[in-house]
Amino acid sequence: PFPLPPGLEAAVAAQASPSGSPTQHGAPQTPQTAPLPPDAPLLDRLLANPVFAGGLGLAGLGTAAAFARRTLIRVPHLLRRQLLVNVEISKRDPSYNWVLAWLSQPREEGGIIARRITRIRSLAVSTSTRSAGPGASGEGAQNGGVGVAAGVGENQKVHADIMVQPGYGSHIIRHRPGVYIGVKREKAGTTTTMTGEPHETLTLTMLWSQRNVLEELFREAHAMASKLHEGKTVVYTAKRMEWAALGKPRLKRPLGSVILDDGVKESLVDDVKEFLAARQWYVDRGVPYRRGYLLYGPPGTGKTSFIQALAGELDYSVAMINLSEMGMTDDLLAHLLTQQPEKSILVLEDVDAALSNRRQRDPDGYSGKTVTFSGLLNALDGLAAGEDRIAFLTTNHADRLDPALIRPGRVDMMVRIGEATRYQAAKMWERYYGDVDVDGKGKERFLARMEELGLFENSEGGGEKKSTRYTSTAAIQGLFQFNKDSMEGAINMADGLIPRTFEP
Ligand code: ADP
Repeated sequence: PFPLPPGLEAAVAAQASPSGSPTQHGAPQTPQTAPLPPDAPLLDRLLANPVFAGGLGLAGLGTAAAFARRTLIRVPHLLRRQLLVNVEISKRDPSYNWVLAWLSQPREEGGIIARRITRIRSLAVSTSTRSAGPGASGEGAQNGGVGVAAGVGENQKVHADIMVQPGYGSHIIRHRPGVYIGVKREKAGTTTTMTGEPHETLTLTMLWSQRNVLEELFREAHAMASKLHEGKTVVYTAKRMEWAALGKPRLKRPLGSVILDDGVKESLVDDVKEFLAARQWYVDRGVPYRRGYLLYGPPGTGKTSFIQALAGELDYSVAMINLSEMGMTDDLLAHLLTQQPEKSILVLEDVDAALSNRRQRDPDGYSGKTVTFSGLLNALDGLAAGEDRIAFLTTNHADRLDPALIRPGRVDMMVRIGEATRYQAAKMWERYYGDVDVDGKGKERFLARMEELGLFENSEGGGEKKSTRYTSTAAIQGLFQFNKDSMEGAINMADGLIPRTFEP
């Protein structure tokens, strides 16, 4: 009925030969199956054929093996997907550095301090140096690093903190008995962060059932980072297009160490605190919650020091932009303001650079871009300006200020921070020599000498030349620093405070 291919025809024919008949090789053949009538269905006839059935069986086995192999490969993958949890942290996220620092922390187990990173094959070392000042010792250990004091001259000890971190690649760390965390640190392609460093990611992998460890890990890492910043002020500056911390967090500067003229500091601090307490008032009235201060006066009078001390007092960080810096443009300024670090005081230094775009007209041909006046105003109250903001503007040239700047929200308070007054010199003396000059006679002699030289802003002496002879608080500090062990030395060298004028 249905023509079979020639090979099969022969096989079927052989199969169909009557049982009991000798084969070609003469061996007796035991009947296994009942002979199929020649008109049996094709499938039955095929299955009855041992060659075909054997082939079919082999094919089945092969398929099963392939399936098993695929399953074997997929099971770990499936398990990993079902049982493990991955957390990817980008270098752009603040927690990146906290977690890296946490990983380099020793862990305590049964009273034994052991390195957390025991099964790490590649390590990276992160070293930061700072000059060893008072209270600097022991910080390395707190930081999870090894503190090394390298002597560079008598008074210039440099302290290096060496922190051993997991390097690039995959590592396994033992968190607690029975709790392991996979750590994978890798460079993310060829992209770079805006500061030009290669972009990196850190992937933590752990059992799904132990995922609560994550919360613990981040809490510990964050607590560690905040402890590191406790009592410190972080200063951010613009690095290309991003904010970057300027060095390590510095020890908070006590407000008492900045000596401004009588009452000046108090009125500023009171105003800022009042503003911070009045948030709801602004919100209720739909007024942008911003306050601006302008500190003007000659350099070296404590403007920057005051802002830093104030930030420390309020537990804020400082975000500083110098408007006269090369490459600072309106766009960059606006961009930076949209990214201003949380809870920071914005400091715009050298605002006069924007007030008179003199640089573009410099006779020496300088035509670099700077911030324009409208760029500055935009920064202060345009869309880019943050909703919650305390801004300090500083300048050495109050004469170039524009009245448009002095508007509520832009500049609410203008304070001149001038050169040293008698009040300031007296306070500074007390800070330096208060313990040796108990009766205050040394102070009187020093002040009298200053008066005689006509060095005070409000001094009686100095005659006509008075205006050129004022001295900055920075200079007085320098004099006292130089003579820290000798108040007589400070009195004798007081004439060194007379500003040098270089007249052509
Ligand atoms: P400015 O920002 O006005 O140019 P800085 O705050 O940078 O001045 O001061 C320069 C240096 O002089 C700092 O080391 C600071 O400690 C010291 N200094 C200046 N003025 C004062 C002051 N009024 N009280 C305490 N230190 C001062």
